[in-house]
Formats: sequence, structure tokens, C-alpha cells
Amino acid sequence: MIRLFSWISFLSICVSLSAVAAERPNIVFIFTDDHCEQALSAYDDSRMSTPHLDRIAKTGMKFTKCYVTNGICGPSRAVIQTGKHSHLNGFVRNGNTFDGSQQTFPKLLREVGYQTAVIGKWHLKSTPQGFDHFDVLIGQGPYYNPPMLTGDIKAEPTKEENTGYTTDIIRDKALAWLKEDRDEEKPFMLMFQHKAPHRNWQPGPKYLTWLDDKTIPEPETLFDDYSNRASPAANQTMEIKTHLNVRDLKLQAPNNLTPEQKAAWDAAYDPKNEAYLAKKDSMTEKEIIQWKYQRYVKDYLRCVKSVDDSVGDVLDYLEESGLAENTVVIYSSDQGWYLGEHGWFDKRWMYEESLRTPLLVSWPGVVKPGSECDHIASNLDFAQTFLDIAGVDSPSDMQGESLVPLFKGEQPKDWRQSFYYHYYEFPGAHSVARHYGVTNGQHKLIHYYQLNEWELFDLAKDPNEMNSVHGQTDYDQVQKDLEKELSRLREYYQVPADDTGLMPVKPEKKKKTKGKKA
Ligand code: CA
Repeated sequence: MIRLFSWISFLSICVSLSAVAAERPNIVFIFTDDHCEQALSAYDDSRMSTPHLDRIAKTGMKFTKCYVTNGICGPSRAVIQTGKHSHLNGFVRNGNTFDGSQQTFPKLLREVGYQTAVIGKWHLKSTPQGFDHFDVLIGQGPYYNPPMLTGDIKAEPTKEENTGYTTDIIRDKALAWLKEDRDEEKPFMLMFQHKAPHRNWQPGPKYLTWLDDKTIPEPETLFDDYSNRASPAANQTMEIKTHLNVRDLKLQAPNNLTPEQKAAWDAAYDPKNEAYLAKKDSMTEKEIIQWKYQRYVKDYLRCVKSVDDSVGDVLDYLEESGLAENTVVIYSSDQGWYLGEHGWFDKRWMYEESLRTPLLVSWPGVVKPGSECDHIASNLDFAQTFLDIAGVDSPSDMQGESLVPLFKGEQPKDWRQSFYYHYYEFPGAHSVARHYGVTNGQHKLIHYYQLNEWELFDLAKDPNEMNSVHGQTDYDQVQKDLEKELSRLREYYQVPADDTGLMPVKPEKKKKTKGKKA
């Protein structure tokens, strides 16, 4: 009798658990690499239109201050997996290997019955853990014909060859998983992650000549001379003028194309290159920078265009299948990017263009369509947000906040008013000095701690961050307040006083660059 009763209880718990699980929203996390707000028309439509990404903003919420904690690819991904700053998750710079044995949000979602998958760019070196299914690029992955590593929670991963444009391949794999491989009894969490528009911005076959007849506006700071700031801004190696190589500029074709792809590529680029090379010797230095800017920015926008198309295809499928009704769609990128601002390409800095990353969220019935949120959000919050969406309490050692109250339009009185940033990768690619800092969205204090140099910016008066007001009498109080807040945040997040345990101090061996200097 007792046994029978136990069985009935057990069965009823199972039934109610599966009923709860079935009601839990699905999560589609769409993620790109290096996509900035300047190339997403929901934020800025001066360069291109991204109608499909804009659909997420129109049906949902746009965050205007989503900041990353460490503006570089691998570290950002590790922060998202763990909900912890780089110094605690152990992945402080590209080149580190993610310790996949630690607590991550996909593992916690699996524990409560979610089916989890990651398709596309992973870039954490170690094999993905906590995913029922993964199909990921190996390392950075090429723009064309990418080999990928595929596996599941039980089996050893296998390498697969693919032919085609990487953005399209990742889209097709994500759609195939949604249509054919998903367990319909379970809610799911899919990380749909593109390589694009990462360097070196190789457009897909469909967009090789798109924008050829257009001139993209130049940013106000394209010819920045780096005066009125600390020394690092002048000492980087990420200038359009000097540091783009022949592959970046498409003066040399990619070396891994099929004959058909190569023919299409050459047909698009050869005439443009010949025209440039014929007049190059008579161009001024300024005109050459302007030409490089146009070439670079158009290729970047072309890559984004394919991403936008792929997002449209996935959104269409969610709608057609009826899944959209109970699916949270989140769009973000691993950090922002310079589209010529300060004369730069790349990221890394705590300056606005790379500190901010896009964040769009649609959730039918929960997020008000067309809404906007100006609270400070962060990639540090994503793990806890995903857990909250699934109705799971987040572990106490995660360091972010669930964004779900903000999704609901609430105005939490105790929401963060300031934000801590820390970049470590020096010496390293593009020679950006190590720095940490604090911003409250109005003012920003940056410390280049190996050099003991500081910058303070008044973002309302100087949104382009061209003039540091550090040490100026008018800003005495602001500076003191931010110094105090910086110390408080470093203590709160348990940042070690000395970072030598996290980063080697000696220069790394210089890697061979893939393309010659242009
Ligand atoms: Ca990136």
C-alpha cells in the first residue's frame, strides 16, 4: 500500500514537473562577433538597414546601455557562460582556454529540463560542456568552407567539412536543429552564434558588390590625432591608416575558396582593385585613408547584411511554427567595435564604441513592443537572465543581475548606477594598454594601471571622448566620487589588487600575420 502510494506520488510529481517544463519559455540567443550599434539600424540607420534585427526591437525592447566587462571576444563569451567577471572565470584574454568544468548557465538549464544547443562560433578553445548538442567552428573559423566540430552530451565530438558561406551554414544548421533535432517535449535554449562580422570581413556571394555605388558617411573622429588624452590612445596598432593588411583590404583574395567562389570573388574585387591601384600614386595620404575606410566599412556592412538575412530566416521559422509565442529572442554581440571612430577598427577599449554592445529582446506578452531601456545592463547579466526566464534561482556566486524585471518594464530602485570594466590583453594584438575603469553613463574614469595614467570623460559634453578632463578643477568632485566608486566596485567584484597571476607580464612571441601590410 505504501509502495503504491509512493509510486502515485512519484508519477504525479513527474507529470507536474513535465507540465511546468512544457510551459517554460524557450530561449533563442542570437549572438554575433564584433557587431556594433553603428551598423544596426534599430540604433543607427546612417550606414545600413538591418530590417530583421530591427524586428526584434520593434516587437520587443532595445537596451541603450548594455556594457561588456572586458571588450574582447573569448573573455566576453566566458562571462556569458558563467555570469562572472574574467578574473573569476579564468578567461581574461584571447588565447586562454575556458575551464568547461566550472558552473555555467547551460548546465543549470539542463538540470531543470531544458534541451540546450550551441551552433556556430564558440571560441573558448575547450570542447563545449553543458550542451545536448553542439556544432561549432574550430577556433575563429573561416568565412568560407568552415570545418566544424559537432557532438552531443554523450558522444565524442567529430570534425565535419562544410562547403559554402559560413553565415549561411550556421543559419542552416540552426534551422535544421530547430526543425528536426529538437525534443518537442522539452523547452529549449539555443545559442545561434555567428562568426561575422569579425575581421577580416569577407562578404558572402550575395553581397560582394552591394554598396559599390554608395559612399558611407565618415565618422567625425576618423582623423583623430589622439591629443588631450593619456598616452595609450596614440600608441595602439589598430588604425585604418596604418594597420589594415592586404587581406583586410581585399587587395589579396582569401586562400580557401572553391574555384566557383574564387571566380565570383575576383569578378567583384578585381575591377575595384585595379581602379584603386591605377590612381593610388596620385592620391594624397588623406584620400588613401578615405579609400581604405570605404573598403573596410563596406565589407563589414556586407557581412552584417548576411547576418541580418539569417536572423530573418530564423524569426520567420519561429513564427511559422508557432514557437514564437513562447520563445524569448535575445540579440547581442560579444562587444562593440570601431567603424572608423578615432581612426580605428577593432575593439578592446573602455571608450563607448567598444564598451557598448547591442542588446535587443523580444518576449511576447512580457516585453512591451517598441520599448527602450536606459538602465545599465551587461553581458555579466545574461546567465542570470536566462536562468530567471526559466524560473530558476541563480547561484549566489554569479555576479550579475537578472534583466527580467527590466524586460517587464519595471524600474527597480536599487538597479546598478555604475559599471566596472577591465581589459587585460597587453602585450597583445593591437597593443592596447591594460586598463580598468568605472562609468555611470554620464562620466567615465579610466586607469591605465601599468602606466599609472588616468582619463576622465564628461560624456554629455564630449560624447566622442576626445578630451580627458582628468585633474581639472571643475571636475574635482566628480573625479573623487568616481575614484571612490571604482575602489568600491573592485572590492565588491573581488578583483585582485595585482593582475600578474592572471596575465603573463612578458611579451608573447609575435605570431605570423596572415596578410602583408598594405
Ligand atoms: Ca568579438
